[in-house]
Amino acid sequence: MEVIKAYSVPMTAPKDLLEEFFKLRKIALEETLKHVKYSKSGKAHLKFNKNDRKELRDRLLENLKFAKHYVDSAINSVIGLVKGWIQLYNKGKAKSKPEITKKTVYVKTTLFSVKNGKNGKIKITIEPRKRYLEIDLAKFDYLPKNYDSIGGLILQEDKLIITFKKKVEPMKPKDYASFDVNLTNITGLINERIAKFDLKELYHIHRVYEEKRRKIQKLSKTKPKTAKKLMQKYSKRERNRARDLMHKITTTIARELISVKHGAILEDLRNIKDRILNGSKNLNRKLSKWNCRLFQSMLEYKLKWFGLPVKYVNPANSSKTCPVCSGRLSAYRGRLLKCDRCGLVQDRDVIACLNLRMWGLGVTPKGDEPFKGDVSQSGRMSIKDFAR
Ligand SMILES: [Zn+2]
Repeated sequence: MEVIKAYSVPMTAPKDLLEEFFKLRKIALEETLKHVKYSKSGKAHLKFNKNDRKELRDRLLENLKFAKHYVDSAINSVIGLVKGWIQLYNKGKAKSKPEITKKTVYVKTTLFSVKNGKNGKIKITIEPRKRYLEIDLAKFDYLPKNYDSIGGLILQEDKLIITFKKKVEPMKPKDYASFDVNLTNITGLINERIAKFDLKELYHIHRVYEEKRRKIQKLSKTKPKTAKKLMQKYSKRERNRARDLMHKITTTIARELISVKHGAILEDLRNIKDRILNGSKNLNRKLSKWNCRLFQSMLEYKLKWFGLPVKYVNPANSSKTCPVCSGRLSAYRGRLLKCDRCGLVQDRDVIACLNLRMWGLGVTPKGDEPFKGDVSQSGRMSIKDFAR
């Protein structure tokens, strides 16, 4: 199977290309939307044939100083955007028509070459035989070294996103680790041990920026432009800080899982809305889901890069069901839960991990795979048994 990893390197994009590509996409979108037709039942579909494409292409090519492939890139990205919108629309989920808001350039593989083998340079054509953009990959030591090829590039105002591709043999894992993510921590059951990763810093980051945004909101009445700029700046900073922290955590976890050849079992997020969180509900819930999504996507691609599988399990009731006897759990003290039937007392995050792992492997405590090491002789588990 082929796996993809994306990395970004800092770089200043040519302003004129950013502007032109933005314009090309806007025109292409306007034109493509004219080709969205609606059936009698109200379903949307795109009727955009070869000729339509050629017409649009010719129009966009007029007076273009940049490489022609940028026009194709713009058209492709817009068609992708419109098709994505149609899918949402037909499910009744589209709020408004798609728009081009970001100044982003999609650089097709035909627009660049990779020189001097793997640790070499990427050379992007801006204007044919005239203007190029060169990126020395060796300057960035965090980029992967063991890849097969470089896929498309995405050029943004201040960075270049590079996708690396590699063919990997799917690995049969020796076991699976499971993870439960909430607002303040990530709990993992790795190799029969519990590991906790603190997310309080992340929570703090979000809180700080939330406060900043609230202040900017006041400013937006008198100075809307400044407010918008500040808002974008802070949102970006917040995102970057959060991503940095999550990268550290997922790299640590992925290294460990790779060394013991374990796959991962994660919560299927579609059911996360069932979860109960404390505090100001909406924001916390949003953050929790956001954390979870970020964690999962980062861990997944880091594991897949080495051929390790990731399974998703419906987490409904994962902290309501006793992992030992399947009895009902009730709140005990603090984050502890107690089983009404067998008396088990355990931390709720640990319980969730145990259940996720069992369900992901399709076993029950009484099933064909005994819970080696996880359950002490008395049938009780204590945090001490798992803590590292
Ligand atoms: Zn029980």
